[in-house]
Amino acid sequence: MSQPILPPTVCQRWLGVQQPSLFEKGSLGRRALEMPAWDGGEVAVDLPDEARRAEPADLPDLSEPEVMRHFTLLSNLNHHIERGMYPLGSCTMKYNPRLNEQVAAMPGFSQLHPAQDAGDMQGLLAALKLLEDSLCEVTGFDACSLIPAAGAQGEYLGMMVIRALHEANGDHDRTEILIPDSAHGTNPASVVLMGMKPRTLKSREDGRIDLDELRAAVGPQTAGIMITNPNTLGLFEKDIVEVARIVHEAGGRLYMDGANMNAIMGRARPGDMGFDVVHMNLHKTFSTPHGGGGPGAGPTCVTAELEPFLPGPRIEETDGFFDFVRVPGPGDIAIHAWMGNVGVCLRALAYILRNGGDGLRRVSEMAVLNANYLLKKIQGIMPVDHDDGCLHEFVASGRVFKQQSEVRTLDVAKRLLDFGVHAPTIYFPLIVDEAFMVEPTECETRESLDHFVAALEQIKREAESRPELLQTAPHATPVGRLDEAKAARDPDLRFLGPCNC
Ligand SMILES: *Cc1c(COP(=O)(O)O)cnc(C)c1O
Repeated sequence: MSQPILPPTVCQRWLGVQQPSLFEKGSLGRRALEMPAWDGGEVAVDLPDEARRAEPADLPDLSEPEVMRHFTLLSNLNHHIERGMYPLGSCTMKYNPRLNEQVAAMPGFSQLHPAQDAGDMQGLLAALKLLEDSLCEVTGFDACSLIPAAGAQGEYLGMMVIRALHEANGDHDRTEILIPDSAHGTNPASVVLMGMKPRTLKSREDGRIDLDELRAAVGPQTAGIMITNPNTLGLFEKDIVEVARIVHEAGGRLYMDGANMNAIMGRARPGDMGFDVVHMNLHKTFSTPHGGGGPGAGPTCVTAELEPFLPGPRIEETDGFFDFVRVPGPGDIAIHAWMGNVGVCLRALAYILRNGGDGLRRVSEMAVLNANYLLKKIQGIMPVDHDDGCLHEFVASGRVFKQQSEVRTLDVAKRLLDFGVHAPTIYFPLIVDEAFMVEPTECETRESLDHFVAALEQIKREAESRPELLQTAPHATPVGRLDEAKAARDPDLRFLGPCNC
């Protein structure tokens, strides 16, 4: 077996070498681009004195190559999808095709102002309407709002719409939302933010919804249920039609957290399963930038019954003319300025049109195939408790390492960075001890999947022979092990003077 040794990276060679900041680089008079000199004439916008600088800003003079090299180096100090595999379970870290960027940058889209008249933006409105219709087609629903700016905001909108329906029906006591214990953390958070009460449903041994628990929990207080399908263990909820019957009979509505649509596109539609609302993450399934590269979008689709409660502005077409209209109604609460993150929506539309219906189905099939290939290989290294019917992701357990030698899943995750692989999601979902959640996506080749497996095999051997190597990993990255809470909550990103690191 070939040894998965990480080739020396740019960052390693830069390790220990003092990195000047942009403010320390450059030289007086260097320029990337010459702006025409100001002729001293009238200033169009009259700023009040307190908003004006007393002194010119102390900005460095830099050439274009200096700027390019600086930011290229910075981008390489971090791990990203253009650099290596990113199997972060639940997050669908797929490659963002460059074609998406070209489409979103077309002047007819990018040079519009959101306050322009509808007559000036017919192309954009037609494109957004086409995206709404495409997402309804993928999910099997009647209406769609592109406005939510993230998956969690889509959940929030979904809860808002369900609550507005119950309020409109005079059902003021329906305030409880049932949530299986395998749910994503944003689900209960969205429910609480919406002023409703989450109630946890314990899953069965096999990781799926327990119908007896569900029957015992529904009642006149039930506003609805929130289900991730496939769930966070990567398993399809097989009893979903029965779940829908039980919840509907009790007067509740079904919300599907569709963040995992990448597993089922073209194969199964939540609308056909009995759901009433679904959100999708364009920054997951539909290949738009994610995380630090955001912003995101969490379009939310609903049945005709819930459509009147969607927020404005809605796009409407009359005799070939597209207009955006506010629809005052019980659910009309603004959740985002204008029409959402329109640039993200255009990127997703480019992805959908490029793939077509058959292509999207193939995306899901390949994502599921890649996950199952990895599952079979990784089962020889770590246990996977819930392995029957794995779709796009699976959850292994790092407990073998802990039993073997004080090595924790966190150490394994950190060591993977030395092999050029981003860590899977760890310690989530909470129902698996030392969870290690792997989602390769359809973008990985067989070679990169094999590299990941080989890296894990080597790490397993290291756990026996040199556990301290893992406990102090990573070793080949620009910074070593960070205090995770402090790095996230108290990041030190300010430039305070010449670097003396
Ligand atoms: C990512 C994810 C979310 C939240 O989406 P954001 O865009 O990060 O707000 C919700 N549910 C599931 C299952 C997810 O994977």
